[in-house]
Amino acid sequence: MSVIKGIKGVKDLLPEETPRWRFIEESARRWATRYGFHELRIPIFEVTTLFARSIGASTDIVEKEMYTFQDRDGTSLTLRPEGTAGTVRAYIEHNRGAIPVPQKYFYTGPMFRHERPQAGRLRQFHQFGVESYGMADPHADIEVIALLWRILNNLGLPSLTLEINNLGQTADRDAYRPILIAYLKEHETGLCGNCKHRIAANPLRVLDCKVPECRTITEPAPRLSDFLSDNARSYFAHVLAGLEAIKIPYTLNHRLVRGLDYYNLTTFEVTATNLGAQNAVGAGGRYDGLVETLGGASTPAVGFAVGLERIAMLLPDSHKSIVATDATVYVAGFGLKGSVAGLTALEELRVSGISAVSDFRSTTLKAHLRQADRLRCQFALLLGDDEVAKGVAVLRNMESKAQHNVLLSALSLQVKPLLSPS
Ligand code: ATP
Ligand code: MG
Repeated sequence: MSVIKGIKGVKDLLPEETPRWRFIEESARRWATRYGFHELRIPIFEVTTLFARSIGASTDIVEKEMYTFQDRDGTSLTLRPEGTAGTVRAYIEHNRGAIPVPQKYFYTGPMFRHERPQAGRLRQFHQFGVESYGMADPHADIEVIALLWRILNNLGLPSLTLEINNLGQTADRDAYRPILIAYLKEHETGLCGNCKHRIAANPLRVLDCKVPECRTITEPAPRLSDFLSDNARSYFAHVLAGLEAIKIPYTLNHRLVRGLDYYNLTTFEVTATNLGAQNAVGAGGRYDGLVETLGGASTPAVGFAVGLERIAMLLPDSHKSIVATDATVYVAGFGLKGSVAGLTALEELRVSGISAVSDFRSTTLKAHLRQADRLRCQFALLLGDDEVAKGVAVLRNMESKAQHNVLLSALSLQVKPLLSPS
């Protein structure tokens, strides 16, 4: 029969990798908790209009990357391509704005985008993200950026750069947009196909294009920074001063843009030089207009999302060696009575809190001991018919080969103290 394979760009995480992933996730959770964020679990799928309206029709995600399908009643549903849309929907739906303290959430889990799979770019990938609602204050931006920076640095990821830009307010961009469009039209012939299309659909995104010809053309283009209001400048100056005060290094990047109106002021991205073409580890920014766009009350908001695959790729070797914890005791029950007693012993040890395993295919002591070695157990509990007849078992230290008799009637009580290293 033909073998059924997994989907292109959708990976399995094998037991050799999951401990590393858990380490990353737990570290991110721990930091987020330290910064006063609480976990929110949002669904994997939502109505398509949620993403179309929140991510924006003229973005790569909505134009060509969403996994959209019809439910049985004809409703269009989409597998979440990111976490902000669902978070905002939940925030509005559960009236979280009525709670008189800032709502600060984190989430983690799989996201889905139909992209061309390559290293660091998958169709099912994983993000860890945070969103902070209710505070129109530079300190909220600083807090979110600091958390992002601490998570990545604490994991020991090498050569990270925090890039940051000021998108100003809608009115600032409205003043800038026609000037930029005029400039881009003048240079249209040299731009890539995507960017030609972006001039009308989403002109600011041309600045973000990675195609070298486009970058050359946009280098001398008029800059948004010359169109910012005093308020926007002062807000951003506070964000930068705060980052300096807490010693988080940043680089200004005027190309960092998000072409949608509900994004404003602070926008940032963390990149890593050793990731190759997919060099973004995480990105975020302020999006004060989105809650209103999705039908809620006007609510200031700021957040970020990081890609866990890219973090896993960057983890230093010292962390890459994190592997699953091995069971402590191997139970070797052999012979007719021994194998029956082995089953009871195995269960008793587990219930008493000791991790214990056995390979039920092994029937001889020799075979059992070989498996105990392969499974890297520190101890083996030997139980043959002779031992059962005497009411004992032999606890063997697999390394030193030292052996101790223990009473079967007080098994876990006698085994436990023998397991401690002293
Ligand atoms: P990129 O420029 O790499 O396409 P993006 O702007 O689409 O990134 P965001 O939507 O900002 O990415 O998502 C935040 C993070 O999620 C990215 O910085 C990246 O680490 C990760 N990410 C995004 N898309 C993918 C993917 N298809 N596979 C793996 N990780 C991804
Ligand atoms: Mg993308």
